[in-house]
Amino acid sequence: MIKFLDLEKVTASHGEEINAATARVVNSGWYLQGKENEAFEANFAKYIGTDHAVGCANGLDALIWTLRAYVEMGVMSPGDEVIVPANTYIASILAISENGLVPVLVEPSIDTYQIDPDKIEAAITPRTKAILIVHLYGQCAYTDKIGEICKTHNLKLIEDNAQAHGCKFNGKRTGSLGDAAGHSFYPGKNLGALGDAGAVTTSDPELARIIRAIANYGSTKKYVFEYIGRNSRLDEIQAAVLDVKLKHLDADNARRKEVARMYIDGITNPAIITPKVADWDSHVFHIFPIRTEKRDQLQAYLTENGVQTIIHYPIPPHKQKCYSGWNNRSYPITETIHAQELSLPISPVITDAEVAEVIRLINQWQA
Ligand SMILES: *Cc1c(COP(=O)(O)O)cnc(C)c1O
Repeated sequence: MIKFLDLEKVTASHGEEINAATARVVNSGWYLQGKENEAFEANFAKYIGTDHAVGCANGLDALIWTLRAYVEMGVMSPGDEVIVPANTYIASILAISENGLVPVLVEPSIDTYQIDPDKIEAAITPRTKAILIVHLYGQCAYTDKIGEICKTHNLKLIEDNAQAHGCKFNGKRTGSLGDAAGHSFYPGKNLGALGDAGAVTTSDPELARIIRAIANYGSTKKYVFEYIGRNSRLDEIQAAVLDVKLKHLDADNARRKEVARMYIDGITNPAIITPKVADWDSHVFHIFPIRTEKRDQLQAYLTENGVQTIIHYPIPPHKQKCYSGWNNRSYPITETIHAQELSLPISPVITDAEVAEVIRLINQWQA
């Protein structure tokens, strides 16, 4: 079987270094808020190109604490609006709701699957305080127009970089393009831990200070509590593993791009739409999304022929029960993507032969 993502093989590809790093932490007797966090945060900030990186428990928390810190700073308050793409993983939207802020959904472009810059301004009201862009599938969502809109309307620009570690816009990494960015190191992400982990990157020292405090009980000094915080720390074992994997991230992403190129060049079945890539620096292929009208049939056919695929995502956020107030709304482009999208196997460890087999099967498929 060709797995969608062979995590065992991904970990084994850096196995010796990972084992040495975890053993070092296990034997150190120091498991939280130590040298491993310090080293990873410094290296990750340097890699992304920001002054600060603050580790936390997961990617959702990274986004929640970023908005929460802005609320603490008085930049926004409950009831204010945050613009977010209508087609994203639910976490981007939950982070907004969780803070009592109002998510304002904006349709994506059908060509890029990213928030459509031309539809943002119509969604701005006097209560809009931020745009939360999501570099979905590993592709950069930022454009100069989005940057200009933020300047003109005095909005914070927050990036959900959970799927796009290593991606670049004009030479700058995603995660450094806005005011702050939330990162997830969920095991399946391009930079994945061996459990849950996340981080915020920013060059705003006050924002970094508040996020660090909130993720550690609101404490700025031991037993002194400045905010009503939470326990959302990054543990030392995950930080050590992430520091190892960060060194290999560019090489791992380069392999993902090779695989993506093979798919784009190799898939010739006219029933299939492959991603349009304008700039190969601006996509790190966390996901390789194709679209086809008979998506469910294609998925069943590939399953029968031993190829695992996943749909990202089967139900759009506005159709979810948790956002029942939105269920009657219509976001046709988002709905089309959700009805037609299928993610093919991609990872740094998939072999050329496996990719060739997926291409062969898809080209043989009769829609
Ligand atoms: C994975 C993901 C998150 C959440 O990350 P967790 O670490 O699982 O909490 C947020 N946004 C997007 C777009 C994601 O893909």
